[in-house]
Amino acid sequence: MPKKLAAGNWKMNGSSASAPEVAALLPRIADVSCQVLLCPPATLVTSMKNWAGSSDLLIGGQDCHANESGAHTGDISAAMLADAGATHVILGHSERRADHGETDAMVKAKTRAAHAAGLVAIVCVGETEAERDDSRALDVVGAQIAGSLPDGVTGDSTVIAYEPVWAIGTGRTPTLEQIGEVHDFLRDTLTRQLGTEGANLRLLYGGSVKPGNAAEIFAVSNVDGALVGGASLNSSDFSGIIEALD
Ligand code: PGA
Repeated sequence: MPKKLAAGNWKMNGSSASAPEVAALLPRIADVSCQVLLCPPATLVTSMKNWAGSSDLLIGGQDCHANESGAHTGDISAAMLADAGATHVILGHSERRADHGETDAMVKAKTRAAHAAGLVAIVCVGETEAERDDSRALDVVGAQIAGSLPDGVTGDSTVIAYEPVWAIGTGRTPTLEQIGEVHDFLRDTLTRQLGTEGANLRLLYGGSVKPGNAAEIFAVSNVDGALVGGASLNSSDFSGIIEALD
């Protein structure tokens, strides 16, 4: 099983003025046993790589195009992210699925492109509130997993993030039982599909993770880390979450 992972998703936040925030994080992650990743906007990938210096901080993108290059104005390929210093890329985040109409098939093509460029793909799945109220959470994440993962997925190349849409940026989280139910379901599904590699795949929980709830979430079975939005923008909040995982 690869190391546990604390991943921060800065979304459309941050600028060159963010360097001190990253610098403040570095001493706090110097001796941790888990991996720590920050995914800034693409404009900051190279800067953040430089800010990280010789530390163990990993840098990732928030999306990539499915093609390697070509006439795609405004888009960025996985190879470009790798060239800029990224080792990971978040794919299929619910904000991209909602705002940019990304389908499972598109996420699958992007995941394939990420793997081809040597990036670890963090593939996001999660139900809406209406789907949960309708008792369809497991069906929805099961279908997203089936549709979003290409062949050849391994525990080293891919991470799954379970992010209930209604828990993102809302301060609301599922109960620990609900998180455990989805993560156990994901582990069963992936192990059935991929054998040992499915057992090795890291399963992150995401959605309103804070220093105050991180420890209890990380104690849930089959939770191997977190994908953190808002709280990753602040080095002391993010390091509180990292300490809970470590
Ligand atoms: P949040 O976002 O931690 O701000 O809820 C999580 C995410 O969207 O990855």
